[in-house]
Amino acid sequence: MQESGPLSGKAQTPSPVIIPRPEHNISRANISENALKVLYRLRQESFKAHLVGGGVRDLLLGHEPKDFDVATDATPEQVRQVFRNCRLIGRRFRLAHVHFGRDIVEVATFRGSGADDEPADRLLENGMIVRDNTYGTIEEDALRRDFTINALYYDIADFSLVDYVNGLEDIKAGRIRLIGDPEQRYREDPVRMLRAVRFACKLGFTVEPATEKPLFDLGPLLEDIAAARLFDELLKLFHSGYGLEVFEKLRHYGLFGQLFPATEACLALEDQAFPITFVSRGLANTDKRIQASKPVTPAFLFAVLLWEPVRQRFEQLMAEEGSAHEAMLLASGEVASRQQSIVAIPKRFGLPMREIWSLQSRLEQREGKRPYRLITHPRFRAAYDFLLLRAEAGEVDPELAEWWTKFQDASSQERASMTDSGRRRRRRPRRRRKSAQASGEAPAEPSAGSS
Ligand code: ATP
Ligand code: MG
Repeated sequence: MQESGPLSGKAQTPSPVIIPRPEHNISRANISENALKVLYRLRQESFKAHLVGGGVRDLLLGHEPKDFDVATDATPEQVRQVFRNCRLIGRRFRLAHVHFGRDIVEVATFRGSGADDEPADRLLENGMIVRDNTYGTIEEDALRRDFTINALYYDIADFSLVDYVNGLEDIKAGRIRLIGDPEQRYREDPVRMLRAVRFACKLGFTVEPATEKPLFDLGPLLEDIAAARLFDELLKLFHSGYGLEVFEKLRHYGLFGQLFPATEACLALEDQAFPITFVSRGLANTDKRIQASKPVTPAFLFAVLLWEPVRQRFEQLMAEEGSAHEAMLLASGEVASRQQSIVAIPKRFGLPMREIWSLQSRLEQREGKRPYRLITHPRFRAAYDFLLLRAEAGEVDPELAEWWTKFQDASSQERASMTDSGRRRRRRPRRRRKSAQASGEAPAEPSAGSS
């Protein structure tokens, strides 16, 4: 196990900048009650206890933190002994979760460099950390975090802010900077590339040049990341209210193609604009829903992100044989299972995702009882929203989407006439085609009164 740079520990540890309570804006009033309970309790038991990570960063920026992370010198087992409501999670990176109803405070033990004599429980494979449960001091812990803005500690003992890595300066300058040698840090954990993009979009920060440069080259390292972890990371990227910007940045760095190779192949080749328009609008819609606190589902998100390869494969299969239903089943099965090897989409989202796709051709059938049945389908609303997007992007005739908009609000009388005209519209060309085929002629344009 070769270690250098940020892993080599104490020798390089700088002395921290300590900002006393009166000189910073973090107030206990803005820290969740549960996080404070955890901090005080650890302190009572003579452990060190600090708030760290996103909570401190967001408070300094005047944002409301999503959650609070605690760092301590207590080992996970010691944390468990202090809190009854505590569960230890993670093998790769062991953590304590302290539960308060639905709220969880994450407690991490200071990670060490493992440079001393103590046995190190850290495992590297090709430079990638596959396990890191070596404990150490707060100084070492700071250097093992990802970005400087995420390595600020709020000390519950005296309410001071402790900065080992010039994180405060970077927060003020709006800068994302990896701690240590960027390439090495990305190799240790390639997910840090996605985190760089996420924080840049979320905070509106710029990625400083040395941290940014490897993003263009190291995308292939993401192949080594477990598919389940990538799913979690993708949700954080795309379900946080700035998914469109994330999409554009990921494409800019060539990272999107690592995550969605089939989609990227379509987007890169396409001379028409609509597939990009479609994905962009889908993501912008999701962003708007999140900003308006409306519910969003990964099923719809992945249906949007993977639609273009599904659609192209569907068209191909349709050219070969007849049934739209069969062709869609095949196309969606192929695309979804190939994607599954990169990003593990749990079944509870994967199945509805495929339903959204398969309902698209059913939405074209407007005659008779079918529309009545379709609007009671549990996935109708999602499929309809999806159809709206396709219409907006210019992929289907907007008239079809308008028809469904109208149908949902129509009275039973209006509905009857809507589905009736649909029936007549479909019948005519069908009959004609038959007779045209029989006589070896090309089908003629349908004209009024000729049925
Ligand atoms: P948010 O919770 O707003 O998404 P966060 O920065 O709190 O952002 P978490 O995933 O909650 O992100 O992680 C908490 C902290 O743990 C981070 O701020 C960082 O210090 C550290 N951390 C998380 N993931 C990594 C990683 N892959 N490599 C190094 N440090 C990490
Ligand atoms: Mg966090």
